[in-house]
Amino acid sequence: MNEERITEKLNILADAAKYDVSCSSSGSKRKNDNNGLGNASNGICHTYTEDGRCVSLLKILLTNHCIFDCAYCVSRSSNDIKRAAFTVQEVVDLTINFYRRNYIEGLFLSSGIFKDADFTMERLVRVAKKLRTEHKFNGYIHLKSIPGASDELMREAGLYADRLSINLEIPTEAGLKLLAPEKNRQDMIKPMGFLNKEIIQRTEEKQLFKKAPIFAPAGQSTQMIIGATPETDHQVLYTSNYFYKNFNLKRVYYSGYVPVMNDNRLPALHTSVPMVRENRLYQADWLMRFYGFKVNEIVDQQNPHLDLDIDPKLSWSLRNLQVFPIDINTADLQLILRVPGVGLQSAQKIVSARKFGKLNWEHLKKIGVALNRAKYFITCSSVKFERRDLTGSAIKQYILAQSKSKYLKNSVTQLNLF
Ligand code: SF4
Repeated sequence: MNEERITEKLNILADAAKYDVSCSSSGSKRKNDNNGLGNASNGICHTYTEDGRCVSLLKILLTNHCIFDCAYCVSRSSNDIKRAAFTVQEVVDLTINFYRRNYIEGLFLSSGIFKDADFTMERLVRVAKKLRTEHKFNGYIHLKSIPGASDELMREAGLYADRLSINLEIPTEAGLKLLAPEKNRQDMIKPMGFLNKEIIQRTEEKQLFKKAPIFAPAGQSTQMIIGATPETDHQVLYTSNYFYKNFNLKRVYYSGYVPVMNDNRLPALHTSVPMVRENRLYQADWLMRFYGFKVNEIVDQQNPHLDLDIDPKLSWSLRNLQVFPIDINTADLQLILRVPGVGLQSAQKIVSARKFGKLNWEHLKKIGVALNRAKYFITCSSVKFERRDLTGSAIKQYILAQSKSKYLKNSVTQLNLF
């Protein structure tokens, strides 16, 4: 291996991969039971950069050559940049070397499109196959599937990869047409449907036959770029919800658009990356998946954007003050989950703990409830604090005034509580 050339390729192709946020090694149970290398079932630690990007995987492109010209992408064919491509064997060697040196726990491999979808996908699959079969590699593998790749290759990919993902890129079909007219949304949706069917079928087989091969055990995910096109948060979350429901996605990743291209269809170069919006979308996504919120409760056509200064659960609570205060000692779990400052675990602990006696503020604090937020929305068996007749905007100001959030700058006045 020519080390200098490999290092150069690595610089180019790791840098080009950094715009893809859809890598997370959660959810796989691949075990090392054949004296092989690595173990994705444990020992995978998730390291995230400050802006939430996962760094525990070797994250590279097979190539940044691409026949397409998507306006939002650094690898687009019309962009005058240095190009490079790894061979299949080079990616395999790098992964094994980095893994042995303890730099990584797995591989996230994406690619520009060399010639056509199948030509590229076939190489991605070969990397995963070599790692699994020749090197007995049991670390985590996430393959970015190429839209339009054939079912046979997708099926093979699922036998070797832990997770497969196909990026939607832009939340709506109209947005995709505007920025990537050569791309066809159906080419993304079709393989998602295929994978969904295969995952369900293979899971059923596995339950019947212990020896049936595992298939994409960490499921499939997708990514949408936020802020490159003018979609509202309502449209973004509506799309996510549709794909969660119909394609059983494990995760939708939201990637704030990084303005790297001068193109009059895109936000200007100096526009800042919508990091707060990205964060709010993740919070809203979490509410839909784990807290029983429907898209229309979080945002709707009249209020299509998420608040940037407060999180979406607090925002919903302030718009629905008639629901509160709830009695923490008697309310249903589903309602407790809607209280700002009460997380999933705290809600479950509350329901278990109250079987042994009435809960008061001290108990709630010990359970882990963030009382600085929750106290405006609940009652319990102590009266040290009562919400009285505070309006939604007053509660919001009190909470923001006490918040250590980096978004505090949006809080304008500090009010005294009593
Ligand atoms: S097909 Fe993928 S790699 Fe190629 S320009 Fe579009 S987004 Fe970039």
